Amino acid sequence: MASSGSGHHNGPYFTIDLHLHTSRGSSDSNVSPREVIQRAREVGLSAVCITEHDHIWDVQEVAEFAAEAGVVLLRGMEVTTEVGHVGAFGLDRYVGGIYKLKELRRVADDCGGLLIANHPFRYKLDPKLTFFNNHDDPFDANDVKKAADQMVFSMVDAVEVLNGCCSEEENRFALQVARALNLAEVAGSDSHSADSVGCVCTVLEAPALTDRALIDAIKASRSRAGRGLLHEGSVSLFGL
Ligand SMILES: [Zn+2]
Ligand SMILES: [Zn+2]
Repeated sequence: MASSGSGHHNGPYFTIDLHLHTSRGSSDSNVSPREVIQRAREVGLSAVCITEHDHIWDVQEVAEFAAEAGVVLLRGMEVTTEVGHVGAFGLDRYVGGIYKLKELRRVADDCGGLLIANHPFRYKLDPKLTFFNNHDDPFDANDVKKAADQMVFSMVDAVEVLNGCCSEEENRFALQVARALNLAEVAGSDSHSADSVGCVCTVLEAPALTDRALIDAIKASRSRAGRGLLHEGSVSLFGL
């Protein structure tokens, strides 16, 4: 399915880059919040969600940039846990102890928050890349059930099935696992520079203008992963 002009609020889709880092919150990024937001508007995204590593923005700090650029700005955080990176939405600040996923789940539940297994199979399928993961055995790409048994999937509401920095194989496997578990599907560019903002996006049928609306939509599985906005100017849903 494709749709032209789908990046705008009045189009058939509401598109959000749900996973981005800026230089003000992530030392491995070289893009400022202002650049991210401007780039999001140029690409045609409806909304952008800045998700720094273990840090959440004060919404007032960047709200004025978003208002200037005409893009909805939402907030999240990418929490480093003992089982990998987890997208967290609904928290107001980093809370001590949430590097343990069980504690992060408790904190998220207390505030009606949302947790996402981010890029769950990055470097985990190709034996040549497993040195990134302490040389753990790679997952068998034909064994979705075994991969789905990982603890992380029992603790999250959604899976990042399309990550702009993962391989096609890693993304497709994440999608298979999400569907086997009936978990919601989301996407984010994981941009650390301006040129990849919007390369993939989370797609909603209805606008999400607040963090709460975003959380509710994803928890209700009303989200899909999409791509194409950056280069083709329209969105194609991932894994139709
Ligand atoms: Zn990550
Ligand atoms: Zn990231």
